[in-house]
Amino acid sequence: MANNIVVLGAGVSGLTTAYLLSQDPANKITVLAKHMPGDYDIDYASPWAGANYMPVGKEGSAHHKWERDTWPALKEITEKYPEAGIHFRGTLIYNRKKDQETDTGKWFSELTQPNPWYKDVVPDFKNVPSDQLAPGVDNAQEFTSVCINTAVYLPWLVGQCIKNGAVFKRAVFKHIADAANAHHTGQKADVVINCTGLSSKTLGGVLDDKMYPARGQIVVVRNDPGPMMSTSGTDDGEDEALYIMTRAAGGGTILGGSYQKHNWNGIPDMNLANRIMKRCIDICPSLVKKGQGIEGLDIIRHGVGLRPLREGGTRIEKDNVDGVAIVHNYGHGGFGYQASFGCAYTAVSLVKEVLQNKSRAKL
Ligand code: FAD
Repeated sequence: MANNIVVLGAGVSGLTTAYLLSQDPANKITVLAKHMPGDYDIDYASPWAGANYMPVGKEGSAHHKWERDTWPALKEITEKYPEAGIHFRGTLIYNRKKDQETDTGKWFSELTQPNPWYKDVVPDFKNVPSDQLAPGVDNAQEFTSVCINTAVYLPWLVGQCIKNGAVFKRAVFKHIADAANAHHTGQKADVVINCTGLSSKTLGGVLDDKMYPARGQIVVVRNDPGPMMSTSGTDDGEDEALYIMTRAAGGGTILGGSYQKHNWNGIPDMNLANRIMKRCIDICPSLVKKGQGIEGLDIIRHGVGLRPLREGGTRIEKDNVDGVAIVHNYGHGGFGYQASFGCAYTAVSLVKEVLQNKSRAKL
């Protein structure tokens, strides 16, 4: 018997969930979204991400499990499908204890501690010997991670879903229950998976007022400094961040950033952009030629994305709205890629429960 499934949202959460579900031929999937890969919009977080795997979930939490479970999938895609636009990259993390109480320091507290759970997950983890630390740095570590070219990876996910029979359609909904009536077969969907990110705050039938943005500003440049790096904070403000990552397949290097909670402004702030570029060159002089400053950066574009944060954490659970079975998978903050498979595995298991209950009810 066929299962009619609607996935609402075509960011990394919706596409990963659709990709997994599409591997079962019994699932007839329609992916519906206002924005699709190729679009750049402030209401669409996924294209703006770096994106890399730098775990931040606290040990023992569901977030920890989602990130831990995602690494093997990203590793496999990197090794098996070079056309997916992901590559392995050396990674350096610097921690300053003085950042501990800032917004960025709290966000990165698991990433930057000297003995994190992920040391047993990523390859080549090692602490930098204390006599090699730069002044002001309390501890540092290196490991091998991945960097995802989102402009290649998101279309690759679309392609995999289409190859498995999924259908993609543009659509905008005011109420989540309406999406059940837009399945490509013309039949009502058995289940709708809600992957609308920050828009879950305003989408009828969801109206989740725990959702809020953490504004991330970036500069994309053609310069390639080598390894990725990130710090626990900066001296320029409690909600400013410092990270550098070069995307696979000619995707340029992302210089970041910021973590500005409750800030909805989609326009790049040029003063912040200058601070981002300056501190990236300060920590990584090899970004530019010897003696150069910001003028040595070859800028592709400035950008802003809104990380879909949720008080109390990501929502992955079953729901029923106006008689329509829903599985929510939204609220992935700054970790939507690095937790993508872990979250999608959980969502898929809930979809299976919904479908089993439906088929039992029909007997
Ligand atoms: P989105 O990508 O926002 O997608 C939502 C989808 O729902 C869209 O298709 C939208 O059109 C659709 N939609 C919404 N409402 C409706 C409606 N009413 N009707 C129809 N369709 C609708 N994560 C990492 O793991 N690693 C990183 O290095 C990283 N770096 C980041 C850097 C920046 C600057 C930013 C901003 C984010 C970063 N993130 C990173 C976080 C990551 O980008 C997000 O967690 C992730 O993209 C969220 O994906 P999503 O699919 O849940 O939401």
